Amino acid sequence: MNIALIAHDKKKDDIIRFSQKYHSVLSKHELFATGTTGMRIADEADLKVTRFQSGPLGGDQQIGSKIANEEMHMVVFFRDPLTAQPHEPDISALLRLCDVHQIPVATNLAMAEIMIQALDHKDFEWKNIIEKNRKQE
Ligand code: PGA
Repeated sequence: MNIALIAHDKKKDDIIRFSQKYHSVLSKHELFATGTTGMRIADEADLKVTRFQSGPLGGDQQIGSKIANEEMHMVVFFRDPLTAQPHEPDISALLRLCDVHQIPVATNLAMAEIMIQALDHKDFEWKNIIEKNRKQE
């Protein structure tokens, strides 16, 4: 499964702790991230991550394009709800695409933990959809 990881600056320590704690689960998947988040996860959680641009420079849109192409299957996006972001339109567009394409997205640690612990379950309808789309490629 392809998983995108993104964290706004004040949430980066949280996503590092999350990546370290769930290293054994995350390491079984293909990981993608925006620039700075990806660099820190690779360095501090020792995970292999394909990095896109930094969020404000288009990283969210790059992840959005993967979602539009059915190439991203899960998004962990630790947003900072208390700080204005210069790329707010990109963030909204990314979250919208998750809904359009039925992609599970966690915008905080609580939901991310529930989502990651559910990854081993086989009986989700959205996983069937991903599998069906993959077979059609
Ligand atoms: P960054 O981008 O990982 O490059 O910091 C994330 C963001 O701020 O959207």
